[in-house]
Amino acid sequence: MRKILFASSEVHPLVKTGGLADVSASLPLALAEQGQDMRIILPAYRQCLEALDKIETVATVKLDGFHLPIEILQSTLPNSDLIIWLVNSPEHFDRDGGPYGTHDGGDWQDNAARFTLFSRAIVAAALDQLGLDWQPDILHCNDWQTGLAPALLANEVNRPATVFTIHNLAYQGLYSQDVFDSLVLPASLWHSDGIEFYGLMSFMKGGLIFADHITTVSPTYADEICSYEFGYGLEGLLSHRADQGRLTGILNGIDTQEWDPKSDPYISKNYTVKTMRYKSINKAVLQQLFSLPEKENVLVMGLISRLVSQKGVDLTLDAVGKLLDAGENIQLICLGSGEAAYEQDLRVLRARHPDKVGLHIGYSEELSHQIEAGADIFLMPSRFEPCGLNQLYSLRYGTLPVVRNTGGLADSVVNAAGSNLKNGFATGFKFDDATAKALEETLLRAIGLFKHPRVWRKVMVTAMEQDYSWEESSKAYQVLYDNLLGKV
Ligand code: ADP
Repeated sequence: MRKILFASSEVHPLVKTGGLADVSASLPLALAEQGQDMRIILPAYRQCLEALDKIETVATVKLDGFHLPIEILQSTLPNSDLIIWLVNSPEHFDRDGGPYGTHDGGDWQDNAARFTLFSRAIVAAALDQLGLDWQPDILHCNDWQTGLAPALLANEVNRPATVFTIHNLAYQGLYSQDVFDSLVLPASLWHSDGIEFYGLMSFMKGGLIFADHITTVSPTYADEICSYEFGYGLEGLLSHRADQGRLTGILNGIDTQEWDPKSDPYISKNYTVKTMRYKSINKAVLQQLFSLPEKENVLVMGLISRLVSQKGVDLTLDAVGKLLDAGENIQLICLGSGEAAYEQDLRVLRARHPDKVGLHIGYSEELSHQIEAGADIFLMPSRFEPCGLNQLYSLRYGTLPVVRNTGGLADSVVNAAGSNLKNGFATGFKFDDATAKALEETLLRAIGLFKHPRVWRKVMVTAMEQDYSWEESSKAYQVLYDNLLGKV
C-alpha cells in the first residue's frame, strides 16, 4: 500500500468548474478502492465548508510569505470515507464566488497569492510538517494551481516522489515579475530552467520542470502538446521530458456509479442496453422540459459545455444554424455558461428557432444528466480537448458523440463510417477540420444514419458497451507510481 497525497483546486461534488473536479474525486476513489492510502488536499472554499457536515481542525501551520497561520481542516469526501484536507485561509478562500473568480467570470485579483499559499500548504503536508504523522510516498499534483509544489519540493531531502498531471495546458497561471517578487519565493526559481517563462512567472512550469513525472489525460494529447500547434511555447520543454520518458498520456476514466443510465436518479426512466427503448421516454421528458415539440423522429442534439472558444461553440452555432435554416428535422438542447458573446449568440439562435432550440444558460448537474439520457447525439466539436468527459458519459448513455478528431476525443470515439460501421466497431461521429463546414457535413451524416434505426441502434449498443471506468486507467497510474518509487 502506498501513501498518496492528491492535490487539486477543485473536487466534485464540493467545488467544480470542469472535468478536473470529476477526475479529482473519481481517480482517488478508484485508487483507494484498489488499496492505496489516499488523501485529497484542496482549498477550503466557502462552498466546501457549507457542503460538509463534519469538519475538524487537525493542524495549524505558518507558511513562508504569509502573515497569518493557516489551518488544515479534515473531513471526508461526501458518500465515502476518503479523507480530505482543506487548506483554511479565510482571507484567501472564504468568499462568495467561484474557485478562481467572481460569479460574473472575472478572475480573483490575488489568485497568484491564493495558489502560492495552497502550494505551500501542499508542500508542508508532503514533508509531514503538519504534525499529522502521515507522509506520502507520492505527491500527485494537478494543473497550474498546484504547480509550485513540485518546484518548492525539488531540493528537499525527504520529499515524496512527485507527479504532475496536465488537465489543460491552455491555463498556465502566468503573472508578472512584480507578482513573483511579492510572493517571497526562492529567487533561484526565477530562471528559464525554473518558473520564468519569457519574462513572466509560470505556475505551470513549476510542475513541468520539477515534477519527477508528468502525465496528461490522454495519449493523443500527450503527443499534441509536444507540437507547436498545441504547446503554447512549452512544446520544446515537453518534448524534452517526453524524450526522457517522463511524459505519459493516460486516458481519464469516469465515475460509473454517478454516470449510469441503469440507476441515475436524475433521469425519468432508467435503462440499460437491454431496455434501450426506454431512452425515448427520457427524450420526450427532455423535450417537454425545454418546451420543444415532443417528437420521436426528430434528431435531438445535446450540448453541455463551458462556452469558450476551445469547445468550438462558434462551429456549433454556425453549423447547427445552417441546418436549422435548411429545415432539417433536428432540435438542439444546450446547457452551458461562459463567454458573454457565445451566451448571447445562443439566445439569438433560440429566438430564431424557438420550436427547435432549447437553452439553459447556467450550471446544472441535474440537467446535464437529463440531456445525456434524452439526447440522440452529443456535440463536442472542440478545437482541442485534453481528454473530455462528456463524450465518455455520452457513450455510456447511448447518446452518440459527434467529436473533432483531437486529444481524448480521438482516443475514445470510433467513427461511424466504412469498415467501422460494417464491422460493428463504430460508436460515434468524427471529423478532422476545425471548421463549421466539416461539422455540418458530419451532422448531415448523423442525420442520414438516424433514418436507419437498426443501424443506429447497433451503434448505440456498441457505444454503451464500452468500458471507460477507472479500472484500467487507475492501474496505469499505480504502475507509474511504482516505477517512480523505484527510480527517484
Ligand atoms: P472541461 O474540463 O474542459 O470543461 P470536460 O469534458 O473534461 O471539459 O468536463 C466538463 C465537466 O463539466 C463535465 O462533467 C460536464 O458535464 C460538466 N459541465 C460543463 N458545463 C456544465 C454545465 N453548464 N452544467 C453542468 N455540468 C457542466
